[in-house]
Amino acid sequence: RYGVGRCLSSPLLLVITLMSHRLHPTSPSPHPSPPQVRLCDVCSSEHIGFGVAGPLGKWERVLCRVCAVGVEGAKSLSRMCSECDTMGIFGTRGGAYGGTLHCRKHKLPGEADVKHRRCDGGSSEPCDRWAAFGGAMGERKPRRCRDHRMEGDEYLRHTRNSSAAGRRALCRREGCSLSPSFGGEGMRATFCKAHRRTGDKDVRHGLCQ
Ligand SMILES: [Zn+2]
Ligand SMILES: [Zn+2]
Ligand SMILES: [Zn+2]
Ligand SMILES: [Zn+2]
Repeated sequence: RYGVGRCLSSPLLLVITLMSHRLHPTSPSPHPSPPQVRLCDVCSSEHIGFGVAGPLGKWERVLCRVCAVGVEGAKSLSRMCSECDTMGIFGTRGGAYGGTLHCRKHKLPGEADVKHRRCDGGSSEPCDRWAAFGGAMGERKPRRCRDHRMEGDEYLRHTRNSSAAGRRALCRREGCSLSPSFGGEGMRATFCKAHRRTGDKDVRHGLCQ
């Protein structure tokens, strides 16, 4: 303690000490990025359930169930990306951030699609593709991909684009709002002309015989 006192008693040394502190910022930010727990804007409750999205879709405010009552634009956060007003698809099942979901844009490294079930392979090995077909064993949810669908499986992955356009199906390419006419032969239309996959046929207009 004696040494420090003597050191700071010299004005020149004091200046040098201050400058060197400025040049060498010590510890990094005291808050490492995840897991960022947001609290209710009003009462600081950690049980947030509603959000108000800003113009860019980011959650500008988050609120608990009680404080959200009567707030204009408050939307339920369940199943939404924790960062923005988009369906959350990616997450870690039972991981450190258990329950937190993210959209494609805000997906964290290591997060996987927890929304769509992977193909169980039917009678062969499970594969990594999204399941879209099911029903052969009485399931009501998709269990198998196109290649592994079993006899009696039906296409079960219906788009739930219940947004502005009502129940009208949209092309499955992300961000495309055209109505689909193309799909695999004998299947329902899933893509528009511009986004059709190789081999897709115009199944909508080909129906009339
Ligand atoms: Zn609250
Ligand atoms: Zn997001
Ligand atoms: Zn498969
Ligand atoms: Zn399209």
